[in-house]
Amino acid sequence: MRLYECDHCGQTIHFDNRSCVNCGHRLAFVPERLAMHALAEDEGEGTWHPVAEPGYKVRLCANAAMDICNWTVPTDDPNVFCPACRHNRLVPDASTEVGLNQWRRISQAQRHLFYSLLRWNLPCTTREQDPEGGLVFDFLVDEVQPDGTVVPAMTGHEDGLIAIRAAEADDATREQVRVMMNEPYRTMLGHFRHETGHYMWDKLVRDGGRLDEFRAVFGDETADYGEALQRNYEQGPPPGWQETFISTYASTHPWEDFAECFAHYLHIVDTLETARSYGMSIEPQQHEELSVEVAFNPYHAQGAGQLVSAWIPFSVALNSLHRSMGVPDLYPFILTPAVVGKLEFIHRLVHSRG
Ligand SMILES: [Zn+2]
Ligand SMILES: [Zn+2]
Ligand SMILES: [Zn+2]
Repeated sequence: MRLYECDHCGQTIHFDNRSCVNCGHRLAFVPERLAMHALAEDEGEGTWHPVAEPGYKVRLCANAAMDICNWTVPTDDPNVFCPACRHNRLVPDASTEVGLNQWRRISQAQRHLFYSLLRWNLPCTTREQDPEGGLVFDFLVDEVQPDGTVVPAMTGHEDGLIAIRAAEADDATREQVRVMMNEPYRTMLGHFRHETGHYMWDKLVRDGGRLDEFRAVFGDETADYGEALQRNYEQGPPPGWQETFISTYASTHPWEDFAECFAHYLHIVDTLETARSYGMSIEPQQHEELSVEVAFNPYHAQGAGQLVSAWIPFSVALNSLHRSMGVPDLYPFILTPAVVGKLEFIHRLVHSRG
């Protein structure tokens, strides 16, 4: 993620900011420009414009009304929602404080995901455009049975429909699941990136004529998915899984391996863009092998190798910073050559869209 500045006063601003702390202007992300702008309202017209460009009219996403979203919509676009929010079908109950807070956190992660999708022009058709396989999100509430037992909603993907368990927007719930599942990392943004990976597989691998190439790297995805999950549940990951898989979950089935690698590709690229945006470089004395600066645009990297050779020293440094604060490692994963080969496949796929 880039660092931005208020185009009215020059104040440093961030992707999720709603107003400038210095000049007070409303701030919004204009997705068709991939830019943050300070906005001024057009009196009585329901439209806004960047302060420096009175001729460029935009509307606020309909979800701005409840302070859920800070993106805009072009005035000639009939949709009232921005390019991220327009994919939502079931949303948390905004009339309750719990629901509203969950939705705000979910939306923040969702817009961060869409930032990457827009950067690469990745497919994200709506259900109106593609009724069979368009990208649509349901943020599901848990079911509470008459005796008080909570049946957790399931997070998952099927034919473009992504379900996200809304309760995982609450730290306590998500952390409890993370510990129970013995996962080193579990975040809302991670869920969005992983589940969207399944959708990208449908669109870019299966429908994109790349099944042979996929199987050569990830294995045969026609292996029974239900049996694979059951086997993983009963027996755990295969011995030595770390050599070939980024996570134990990736070892369950080639589909999950792909979704995990897609998520990691986005984690790495976006975090390196943030590091580059801050001008960060590391140069530890007597540890020259860890010296690195991000001297390239990670969203336009030449290959996964280039990304990983910058990412490894950065992630080592970031993990150390986290340990000094007594919090878990930022990136508790190991990138083996086999995993980098899978990231290379994702890299080619992502960059196939021009
Ligand atoms: Zn300002
Ligand atoms: Zn929106
Ligand atoms: Zn999955």
